[in-house]
Amino acid sequence: MFEQIQAPSADPILSLISEFKNDARTDKIDLGIGVYRNDKGITPIMAAVAQAEQTLLKTESTKAYQGLVGDENFNLAIQSLLLGGTSAMARASTLQTPGASGALRNLADLLAFARPNATVWISNPSYINHRPIMLRAGLAVQEYAYLNPVTKAVDETAMLAQVAQLGPDDVLLLHGCCHNPSGADLSLAAWQRIAELAQQRGFLPFVDIAYQGLGDGLEADAQGLRLLANAVPELMISTSCSKNFGLYRERTGAAILVGEDASHAHNGRAKMCELARGSYSMPPSHGAAIVSTILADDQLNGLWRAELDTMNLRINGLRSALVEGFRIATQGEDYDYFGHHKGMFSLTGLSDAKIARLKADYGIYIVSGGRVNIAGLQLNEVDALVAAVVAVNR
Ligand code: PMP
Repeated sequence: MFEQIQAPSADPILSLISEFKNDARTDKIDLGIGVYRNDKGITPIMAAVAQAEQTLLKTESTKAYQGLVGDENFNLAIQSLLLGGTSAMARASTLQTPGASGALRNLADLLAFARPNATVWISNPSYINHRPIMLRAGLAVQEYAYLNPVTKAVDETAMLAQVAQLGPDDVLLLHGCCHNPSGADLSLAAWQRIAELAQQRGFLPFVDIAYQGLGDGLEADAQGLRLLANAVPELMISTSCSKNFGLYRERTGAAILVGEDASHAHNGRAKMCELARGSYSMPPSHGAAIVSTILADDQLNGLWRAELDTMNLRINGLRSALVEGFRIATQGEDYDYFGHHKGMFSLTGLSDAKIARLKADYGIYIVSGGRVNIAGLQLNEVDALVAAVVAVNR
């Protein structure tokens, strides 16, 4: 049987990583893969995480199965981090999942069970895995207008006009903050309008939030989501601890259901547990144990928040430096969008030909499509990047 299977073409991001590794130039710059890097160019283990791991080493007494819902302390802590202060807290139920990827798939499986005719609407552009995850679950996928390629901001008028046409068989998948790949986020007014439309038209909002804390801070980044959660009867949320706790490989995330009442949400979660038994069964425990240890301890919680703020400041500092560098180099404001975008990414709109030139002539690595990871940059590389981009865009 296996002889009939063709090897799929290599993942473009992963092949870019190995090309970068093999590039002998010492001034090369990697803006490819979506991981945070600090000012030494490494993706560190956060100090709060390392301390929590020490605690766990001393206190953990068993590796016996934990159960399908995962760690309930983690579930509640993550739910509070996202929905704290909203009326939705009392009608929500949370399931620990293998990363936000696992949450997206669990929620998609639940949709396919409860609303098999659903169409999931994703933004144009969207996170590269949104479409395949929804399709794999057997759901239909359509795109809504999102990014204006000229202004590199959200075209809220076009988006909202389309959202106003959605109905009860539609699911609107939104990025909670720090849109991947564009960096362009919705205004609070747009979140408000979406909440009104969801109530009027009966579509189901689904918020994927993988970067809470990396835009404007933990609270500010959850504002749109909270507004929606207070207003709509039902909501699905997928969330990740990969970025804001730096737990990428520990596969730590959660799926949250907000129902009309708590019993609906709990029943939905129980169904997701049953569906998960048909695939991975139980989520891995280590990452979630780290997160619940941090969030339950004042000192660790404070340390984690301070570290997250440092990451946020670094990204926003790089964004300001880029805006300034491009203003000086071009005597114009065409690149001010770097300062308006939130989180690790900006979509530059660079063509594949220009991306190839940046790699060949300047050792600057950018994924096809033009997304740059701002957190991959060092302050002392800003001038070189600006000069190279201005040269290929000339
Ligand atoms: N959603 C979005 C928007 C993402 O950018 C990512 C990761 N890059 C995920 C989900 C998946 O995250 P995880 O590593 O937690 O599976």
